[in-house]
Amino acid sequence: MTDRYCVFGNPISHSKSPQIHAAFAAQTGEDIDYTAIEAPLNDFAGAWQRFVAQGGRGANVTVPFKEEAFRLCDTLSRRAQRAGAVNTLVLGKNGLTYGDTTDGIGLVRDLQHHGVALEGARILVLGAGGAVRGVLEPLLAMRPARVLVANRTAAKAAALAADFADLGEIHGGGFDAVVGPFDLVVNGTSASLSGELPPLPDALFAPGASAYDMMYGAELTVFLRWAETRGARGIDGLGMLVEQAAESFFLWRNKRPETGPVREMLRQWLQDKR
Ligand code: NDP
Repeated sequence: MTDRYCVFGNPISHSKSPQIHAAFAAQTGEDIDYTAIEAPLNDFAGAWQRFVAQGGRGANVTVPFKEEAFRLCDTLSRRAQRAGAVNTLVLGKNGLTYGDTTDGIGLVRDLQHHGVALEGARILVLGAGGAVRGVLEPLLAMRPARVLVANRTAAKAAALAADFADLGEIHGGGFDAVVGPFDLVVNGTSASLSGELPPLPDALFAPGASAYDMMYGAELTVFLRWAETRGARGIDGLGMLVEQAAESFFLWRNKRPETGPVREMLRQWLQDKR
């Protein structure tokens, strides 16, 4: 029987995950069925149980269910425990549910793909929500010189930095505490969704710096446009999406798909939408 996988979210119709995993399956010769399921807002655990009863073997989890997914797992990866959130569920042979989070490794792989040096880098991370919490451990594992987390609600950034302080040089505060220069600035706020820009000082970027927006779309985000006019190289979050999916696929099928062609396919699709 074909193994079933899905992505849970609400809303979910915009998700590109079914196309990404169909491409990975075709490339690796894996026989899987992957769909998008809109889980009810008040019953995520029920949606997962029903999916498992119908032959589900694993799932991706997106907004707003990542914390609920974390809570229902029987076992968790170390990075998921740190993140307090899960974007990948795996049904074990013993019937137990294992949870992992692949967003952070997805970001690091995409940065590496773009040739962004992380070891010794001065990194600014904007935002202190679920996405940022999920990327801090993999970023700190690359041994940057220091990481500053800046957020609209300063206390959230300070608390987040304190949670990861055993892993490296990391601090947190409000946007007014941001003093450059940085080699890499990662925008993990959802400000780009509404076309807004966090209030940032002009002298933010070191020579040769990169600016990464976890968001992606047909057009450059306002953050990336702002960064490029200040000399930084802008990179959007499309590659992170594909890389986190590849890591989930690996957890389920023990096969590592090639991400380059899938990234190109999605980029083409975004351009066709313009
Ligand atoms: P959350 O809702 O958990 O956090 C949102 C964050 O954005 C908070 O820190 C919030 O600050 C901040 N924020 C919201 N609006 C503004 C604004 N107008 N100005 C400044 N800061 C603002 O969201 P997530 O962490 O889950 O997601 C963040 C972004 O990352 C989204 O755009 C999402 O699409 C993207 N993402 C991309 C992925 C990929 O694969 N490419 C994977 C995961 C996420 P405050 O605390 O003050 O409210």
